[in-house]
Amino acid sequence: MTQDEVVQAFNAIRVWHNGDRRAVHKPLLVLLALSRVNASAPQTIDWNDAEPLLKELLEEFGPDGSASTRHYPFWHLQTDGLWQLAGPAYILNRPAGSAPTLTELRQNHVHGGFPLAIYSALKADSELIATIAQRIVEAHFPESIRQDVLDAVGLAGAESPTSSGDPQRRRNPAFRTKVLLAYQYRCAVCGHDLRMGQQSIGLEAAHIKWFQAHGADEVPNGIAMCSLHHKVFDLGAFKILPETYQMVFSQHLNGSEAASQRMLAYHGCGMILPQAKEYLPHSANLDWHAKQVFKNPARPD
Ligand SMILES: [Zn+2]
Repeated sequence: MTQDEVVQAFNAIRVWHNGDRRAVHKPLLVLLALSRVNASAPQTIDWNDAEPLLKELLEEFGPDGSASTRHYPFWHLQTDGLWQLAGPAYILNRPAGSAPTLTELRQNHVHGGFPLAIYSALKADSELIATIAQRIVEAHFPESIRQDVLDAVGLAGAESPTSSGDPQRRRNPAFRTKVLLAYQYRCAVCGHDLRMGQQSIGLEAAHIKWFQAHGADEVPNGIAMCSLHHKVFDLGAFKILPETYQMVFSQHLNGSEAASQRMLAYHGCGMILPQAKEYLPHSANLDWHAKQVFKNPARPD
């Protein structure tokens, strides 16, 4: 297979997106499999070895509860022509719609991996692996956590700063400026507003509903945050309640006392509001973030 054919095969994957809901199962399995090829692992992996890795990735980077369906992509990726299974015929011959259960996959040691032609092409070309991995993280995760996703799957070197992005949809460069102005150039969580001359340091415009989920480049879908709060917001460590704009933190966030207390001091507090009502975050965007990104359970009041 040529480079282009391999890239095409990955571009053609069905259901990368499921409407507004984040569909990260296939992307995370593909990234995991790419990482294995990169590390010269065999063509296929036993479900029993893949399962704990996928579970952890979905818990960390998927919507809340998505890890319970961690076996779906191991089966459904076949339909995209990107995945081959090895195992007993009574499982392999099932119709595409009837995925085996977790137990069936475990007990039968079903193996899965890229088809040989794709595996061989990737194995011979680590740059191709990096290109495909880069496209996948760009399509599914905001910039603040892309490197974390690549690190977690073991493709730490794959992020390239010169990547082209999605040619179909360009970000609006005015978004950042408008959001920062709306919040008077300070973090809506902690008030951070450090500058060098006129230049803000470590201040970013966070999308509430991710750009990757077709969130709009409009001020009511943005909040000014320092880079630390932006990152933990994108990882689902806290959500913002519509109407009261209170910040509610996840029980999954922890650390040494000093570090976590500094962060958790904002639990239950109202965020710093923008300077005009029209800039307030829309509740539909906050709801999307609470459902698709925030990691339940929330800490008690
Ligand atoms: Zn902050």
